[in-house]
Amino acid sequence: MNIPSRRRLAAFAPWKIAAAFVLAGGVACAAPEKICVLTFDDACASHARTVAPLLTQYGFGATFFVCEYPGFENKTNYMTWAEIAELNKNGFEIGNHTLTHTHVGKLKPAQFAAELEAIETRCASNGIPRPVSFAYPGYATNSAALAVLRERGYQWARAGGGRAYRPAQDDPLTLPSVSGSGEKTDRLLGALQQAQAGEIVVVTFHGVPDLAHPKVGVPPETFRTYLDYLRDQHFTVIALRDLKKFVSPKK
Ligand SMILES: [Zn+2]
Repeated sequence: MNIPSRRRLAAFAPWKIAAAFVLAGGVACAAPEKICVLTFDDACASHARTVAPLLTQYGFGATFFVCEYPGFENKTNYMTWAEIAELNKNGFEIGNHTLTHTHVGKLKPAQFAAELEAIETRCASNGIPRPVSFAYPGYATNSAALAVLRERGYQWARAGGGRAYRPAQDDPLTLPSVSGSGEKTDRLLGALQQAQAGEIVVVTFHGVPDLAHPKVGVPPETFRTYLDYLRDQHFTVIALRDLKKFVSPKK
């Protein structure tokens, strides 16, 4: 009798079957048991210089939500567009975080559309695909912004909320996320440990560390703790755009 090798058994892990099912049939299915989406906001210098090399080492995907924050010309604190383009070349997703990091509640729909378009144009001129993911500055959302995002073809938009994403119930344009800011690990590790079957933890990070806004940063050694945990617990760690391979979001 043919005894399957361990490798072959691993190839038949249930989540892989589920994922294949979705790709083949386009129908709803259970997500892999443990999915984590990593997102990084504000185009911090540390994203290109510390975070991306580490993620590559761990084999993890991620989304970098870029904007030209006031002070963006200070390249000690913020990435250059060449560095952002390099993240894309290395397989990471570039998402839109508005041009000037203005909360959507302070923008009329036409102004919000112009903020989105400015980042889309910069992406195009740097060889980066048109973004399909958005992150709300300051986690502020409203229905007018949702309509603009839908009109411009955005598929995913990340908000705050401090809890896991439930694909069957949450709108993909107001995705909840859990913050990874600060030195203490209990909030994020707790959320990862407590996520129920079918729930996906979407994490919001800022700089590692964050030179312009130290309070929302995370120390590099704490960040390593998270990456080690995700690897040791066999999480599938992906960019936001890759969720479509695993879930059929609520319309
Ligand atoms: Zn931000």
